[in-house]
Amino acid sequence: MSTSCSNTSIATLPSSAAEWKHVKNILRGKTGQYEVVCTYCDKPYHTSGVTRIRAHLLSSVGFGISGCAHVPDEVLSFFKALEHEKRVFAINESKKRDFDDLTSGALYTLCILCIQCSE
Ligand SMILES: [Zn+2]
Repeated sequence: MSTSCSNTSIATLPSSAAEWKHVKNILRGKTGQYEVVCTYCDKPYHTSGVTRIRAHLLSSVGFGISGCAHVPDEVLSFFKALEHEKRVFAINESKKRDFDDLTSGALYTLCILCIQCSE
């Protein structure tokens, strides 16, 4: 087994995101992109992160990748739920930011003080 003769190397995953569990043969290309193969339809493609993996599984348009024809229903609904959660989280985060702006971060300072006191 040779370890260094190709343009790719076995990738260390950039994150433990769930998307990586649905691809196989993950290799890191020289450009920094990952070469992967879909676990379900065996489609080989490249991606720089989990966004394209999810786009393939969810058949999302606008990511330059075709949808997966063999993704199991439970995987599909898992990622649909995840997408929904992220959207809700993003909305909540922007609300929180608005609040922080209003209080000029005073609430955050207060929280730090509380943590210090309770020790
Ligand atoms: Zn697929």
